[in-house]
Amino acid sequence: MLGPPGAGKGTQARIMSDALKVPHISTGDILREALKNQTELGKRAQAYMEAGTLVPDELVDAIVAERLARKDCDRGFILDGYPRTIPQAECLQALLSKDGTRILTIAVKVDDGVLIGRLSSRWTCPKCGKMFNANLDPDKAAGQCDECHTALVQRKDDNAGVIAERLQVYHKTTRPLIQHYQGQTAYVEVNGDRPVDEISRSIMNIVASYL
Ligand code: AMP
Repeated sequence: MLGPPGAGKGTQARIMSDALKVPHISTGDILREALKNQTELGKRAQAYMEAGTLVPDELVDAIVAERLARKDCDRGFILDGYPRTIPQAECLQALLSKDGTRILTIAVKVDDGVLIGRLSSRWTCPKCGKMFNANLDPDKAAGQCDECHTALVQRKDDNAGVIAERLQVYHKTTRPLIQHYQGQTAYVEVNGDRPVDEISRSIMNIVASYL
């Protein structure tokens, strides 16, 4: 899943993961968990994450290599938030070419103005990662996750200054991956500025025809 922060990659990846019974792998979620537990990885990633910049490639590449080697990835997996740089894409290619795994790139398109509005009103479940928008669902501000009943939080990097930095990083470093993947893989774009269930229907149709 390719797209800017706030495009809905995580929400859609979670829906796909449930429907297709393959793991949803979010490097952001793995890093946040490491940060919460103050592991060595978490400590090394902390300053980058809080500033909204990218964690060095070698750290995230190692996370992904370890995760993809697990048995539950044998039937496929959904990557959300990785790769984010051309060297990460090359690392992934090297990992996947070993066993001939094919890539379907789904790029979720949303304008910056909409993203800023979404990120600044986003509430996240720190346990299961589900996200809620307080503009669409005012009950969710400081409320509970409707799946696991954990108290929702606002991510530290969902504040105006850090959001601006994350969008800049996306445009400069991650957006070039669109061209990279357009040339190399099955590549489709979906309009992410629509209701969640409409987007997921489009994505599931794309996935079904790809498979
Ligand atoms: P996300 O939850 O995908 O928005 O990621 C949150 C933060 O984790 C990002 O702003 C980065 O600091 C870091 N991060 C997540 N995935 C990556 C990645 N593939 N490469 C570098 N940094 C990442």
